[in-house]
Amino acid sequence: MPSTAHHRILIVGGGTAGITTAARLRRKGQDDIAIVEPSDTHYYQPLWTLVGGGVEPVGKTARPMAKVMPKGVTWIKDAVATIDPEQNQVTLASGDGVEYDYLVVAPGLQLDWDKVAGLPDAVGRNGVSSNYRYDLAPKTWDFLKDLRGGRAIFTMPDGPIKCGGAPQKIMYLAADWWQDQGVLADIDVTFVLPGDGLFGVPKFAKVLEKVVDRYGIEVMFQHEMVAIDGAAKEVTVEDRSGAAPVRKTMGYDFLHAVPPQSAPDWLKDTKLSDGTPLGYVDVDPGTLQHTRYANVFALGDASNAPTAKTGAAVRKEAPVVIDNLLAAMEGRSGDKRYNGYSSCPITTARGKLLLAEFDYDNQPDPSMPFDTAKERYDMWLLKRYGLPFMYWNLMLKGLA
Ligand SMILES: Cc1cc2nc3c(=O)[nH]c(=O)nc-3n(C[C@H](O)[C@H](O)[C@H](O)COP(=O)(O)OP(=O)(O)OC[C@H]3O[C@@H](n4cnc5c(N)ncnc54)[C@H](O)[C@@H]3O)c2cc1C
Repeated sequence: MPSTAHHRILIVGGGTAGITTAARLRRKGQDDIAIVEPSDTHYYQPLWTLVGGGVEPVGKTARPMAKVMPKGVTWIKDAVATIDPEQNQVTLASGDGVEYDYLVVAPGLQLDWDKVAGLPDAVGRNGVSSNYRYDLAPKTWDFLKDLRGGRAIFTMPDGPIKCGGAPQKIMYLAADWWQDQGVLADIDVTFVLPGDGLFGVPKFAKVLEKVVDRYGIEVMFQHEMVAIDGAAKEVTVEDRSGAAPVRKTMGYDFLHAVPPQSAPDWLKDTKLSDGTPLGYVDVDPGTLQHTRYANVFALGDASNAPTAKTGAAVRKEAPVVIDNLLAAMEGRSGDKRYNGYSSCPITTARGKLLLAEFDYDNQPDPSMPFDTAKERYDMWLLKRYGLPFMYWNLMLKGLA
């Protein structure tokens, strides 16, 4: 017989956003919090870029979920199947139910591999990889490290994705490696991206234009990968720069693929979704409270706040959610607002990093007391050592 539990605060997802929120709520004295999370392992995804670049081992990016679950929080080891916000109830994959007074939705996003014909079969073999998965990030390095000539293609999909800089971070790490090996001149490096600029913030885009020139990378703006034939090592891209889209097929020797992304399908089907094809949770971009259900909040990759989806954004979203949630519990309307802060540490070489920090208006929003709009070694050290330390020891403990 399915059972039904009840918790004052229920959190969906024990990733970056879920654990950070739970830890902060515990520090505020909340004593009836549960997290629904099916995975045994918690991942620090930002380091997957350095795994693909051959700089860090993949094992460093994973820890047992039990170790990051805040003390005093109930871990419901199951997956949410659906949410009924009219009844304040969640149904789990096991069939059990959980009722809540307040709900925080943070199950991350879904990688839509199957939206590119042939991609699910192609990744992981014949020179095709992706840093967007724990099991594949080490393969990126396996495939690129021995390349000595031919064509290397890096793709970015249309629509919002987590860490919008990641498709090009790995391209610069690879180009730097090939340059060191003395083979860059024999490799045609191509970046296929749907937009018409390298980055949304002009100040940082200018720096990246120079980086692209330095490595001799060909950039195909307003193009997107639409199909791939792994066995033939051919990719079809669509050129959307003209009046009608035009498709062309190119051969490759190495390809780094980033799949299209959207809300998890089960979430798209709930009343919490914004009803668009991407289907993310419909929140007020400032308060992060649901636009129709006042006892529901969402943060991280699963919300439709028009921010750049990163862990850095989560760090600034979590205190806003906590304040406004606690206000709601006291019958007040919260006055904390998220300004869209996000940060993208772009690795431009092994040992060089451009730290892009910006807000909803794509205006620079720096947290460092010096100019980060240039490639720096100290910011590389921050990404490689400082931020992972801060993540595991401070952020997941509700201290940063
Ligand atoms: C290659 C790469 C590079 C990146 N680089 C950076 C970077 O440099 N800087 C940065 O700040 N960010 C970076 N990010 C982005 C960052 O990792 C994410 O934005 C962040 O993890 C989002 O947190 P989240 O909690 O919303 O989602 P996640 O951390 O993905 O967590 C979602 C959790 O929900 C769980 N879940 C899934 N389905 C269900 C369900 N049905 N029921 C319950 N739980 C469920 C999952 O198991 C998971 O634990 C990068 C990401 C990638 C892939």
